[in-house]
Amino acid sequence: MPLTSLIKPILYFTISMVSAQNINLDNKIIPESIKKEVIEAISFYPELYDTAIEFKFKDNIKKSTMQAQPRFASFFKRKENREYVILISRNIQIEGEHFTMEDIPSDVKVGWLGHELGHVMDYRERTNFGMLIFGIKYLFSSAHIKEVERTADTYAIAHGMGDYILKTKNFILDNASLSEKYKERIRRLYISPEEVMELINENKVEEEPEIVGEEGS
Ligand SMILES: [Zn+2]
Repeated sequence: MPLTSLIKPILYFTISMVSAQNINLDNKIIPESIKKEVIEAISFYPELYDTAIEFKFKDNIKKSTMQAQPRFASFFKRKENREYVILISRNIQIEGEHFTMEDIPSDVKVGWLGHELGHVMDYRERTNFGMLIFGIKYLFSSAHIKEVERTADTYAIAHGMGDYILKTKNFILDNASLSEKYKERIRRLYISPEEVMELINENKVEEEPEIVGEEGS
């Protein structure tokens, strides 16, 4: 038997073991139809091991496809024990065009989930009072929306999900069947694919000095 045919399964096994250790499914609720994508996305966020998150389908979400929010019942708990819900729209109605989650490629869904988990990372740092102010500002300030959306993408990219984030953005912006009005909103409030690539490169540069240091010593 050639050696390479042996290495591949071993490598695959090792990788899946490593990622499985990072994931705690006891405190996650995940619908079967999106389980693969959710597990792929949360494997990039080992910090969320102890964080309870429910992924939940909803028929329609106004103006968005997915939405991360604290669970209302946990709102008065300490922020370490706060629980989150990520709502996923079953139907995506954009300016008359109708999609369902099943129409969206798997990698694009992983990118979308990675962005929502970036919001959870951001929320975890905020106090309950801070979350309240945050919610009010989100309703009224587009500058605040821009900042919050940038933060979510930045978390996802810093956790190694840059390529997924790019795929999700390109899926929206290159999609001929989505209206120009919707794409304009995305361009106005979210960071561009070019900025995503810049952030990916910045992350790579930050990792390099360690390697240089090792070589020099
Ligand atoms: Zn967002």
